[in-house]
Amino acid sequence: MSIELCKEGRLGHFKYAVLDFDGTISLVREGWQQIMVPYFADELMRTPGGKEMGYDACYLHAREFITLLTGKQTIYQCIHLNEEITRLGGTPLDPQAYKDEYHERLLRRIDDRLKGLEDGSIDPETLTVPGSYDLLQMLLDHHVTPFCASGTDEPYVLNEARLIRVTPYFGKHIYGAQRDYKTFSKAMVIERIIRENHLSGEELIGFGDGYVEIENVRDAGGYAVGVATNEAERQGIDEWKRERLIRAGANIIIPDYRNINELEAFLFPNA
Ligand SMILES: [Mg+2]
Repeated sequence: MSIELCKEGRLGHFKYAVLDFDGTISLVREGWQQIMVPYFADELMRTPGGKEMGYDACYLHAREFITLLTGKQTIYQCIHLNEEITRLGGTPLDPQAYKDEYHERLLRRIDDRLKGLEDGSIDPETLTVPGSYDLLQMLLDHHVTPFCASGTDEPYVLNEARLIRVTPYFGKHIYGAQRDYKTFSKAMVIERIIRENHLSGEELIGFGDGYVEIENVRDAGGYAVGVATNEAERQGIDEWKRERLIRAGANIIIPDYRNINELEAFLFPNA
């Protein structure tokens, strides 16, 4: 059994699904944590308080708050960095400056992937969480409408969804972070789906690898599937993710969607 049961929840009545993008469907940005964590740790080290803590403590501290904010728009991680720098006696830059620098570093890392997807030299399936196409098709087969809600800036999400060929499953329902960050959140997307379709929470299912979307889905009364993929290996569980997804309230934890028949029989027991 590749499904780990964490919390009871009502199954089989789902009509709408909210899926996170990076780490839940797409692996195009795999390794972003290895860019953000050391970058933020370096910035913390430039403060008087950070120097006192030492590099390892700065690194662990950065990793923890980045993880707890994963799933929110990137700017929130940068706002938190800005606040921590002030707290540690440093003079912070504007959060947007941290976001721009981080994103430039990340784009340098994933540039080959984007080019390879564009020119056809990379098979898009290899940059998805295993079984993603099967999952999306399975949801559609059960008349569940999938929505994609990402904390990455919307133009990038739209482009990367096209490159890994998942756009047809979502149609127009792909949402990402907006320039004015207060106008978008995953909670807002979820709230809108529920309101516009007169749903009860139990008709909603969410898939995510981040703390935020799991909490948002549970808060709305939905069923939360924590996807704890080991992104670098594309095989097995990432223990760090697993532990935090359980803490966020995930109903079940899965490594990926490879065992799609098992997942389908579990989520739709009466079908
Ligand atoms: Mg994610």
